[in-house]
Amino acid sequence: MSDLWSVETLIVGSPYSSTCTLVANDRHRVIIDSGLSLDQSALEQALHARRLDLSDVDIVINTHLHLDHCGNNSLFPRAEVFMSRREMQWTSAFYAALFASRTPEQAAEEFYPELRSYEFAPRTIRNVVRLARLFWKPDRLGDASRRRWIETDELPRGLEVRPSPGHTPFHVSIQVAAPALVIVAGDAVLAEQPHAKVRTMIPYSRAAFLATRAALMLEAATIVPGHGPTFSAHPDSNSNGANGGTRHA
Ligand SMILES: [Zn+2]
Repeated sequence: MSDLWSVETLIVGSPYSSTCTLVANDRHRVIIDSGLSLDQSALEQALHARRLDLSDVDIVINTHLHLDHCGNNSLFPRAEVFMSRREMQWTSAFYAALFASRTPEQAAEEFYPELRSYEFAPRTIRNVVRLARLFWKPDRLGDASRRRWIETDELPRGLEVRPSPGHTPFHVSIQVAAPALVIVAGDAVLAEQPHAKVRTMIPYSRAAFLATRAALMLEAATIVPGHGPTFSAHPDSNSNGANGGTRHA
């Protein structure tokens, strides 16, 4: 029984901020994506409402390192923090290049090769960079001594890393062995509606993003998306019936 996990949404993602998910069994309490730093007190309250403290969380996992998904890693005093090493290198280089450049719309193109096709005004990109400068705080990623790389370090049994590239190059989703298969998708699935208006970054690769989204939707009974409420993706495969997904909300 102990290899089966429960899944609860602590913060439901909005167009601006990410979903924070608690997955737990009798040995571990795991946060998948710690959210925007502005959501710190909401996150603490959601834990307190479940009679949990920040120190009860022993693992944090980041699906990727956009600032709205990892802004509260440092709050958990004893948690190991899992992330992709390659994603860390890519994202750190991305923010560093943006902040160092006088023409961030050009710097961003090195990291988002399809950027030009979206035809954003340079002004729009510069506004995003201004916001990113306010919220990207590397020390919020958590202490380096407790950092673990998903490429080499193992998660507890029943939590499986699913590479889900497209939104970013090294994005991962987490497959959870719950009574019905749950995938905590991060921004590999932004929301249930494919064209939901979500104010996150454009995909690194639109084709990879769409292929990844379709694959995850086919496999999971329940999807926890990065910027919207949990939903039932594939009701037929859900042994708890068509409404099974809502029990995780
Ligand atoms: Zn993102």
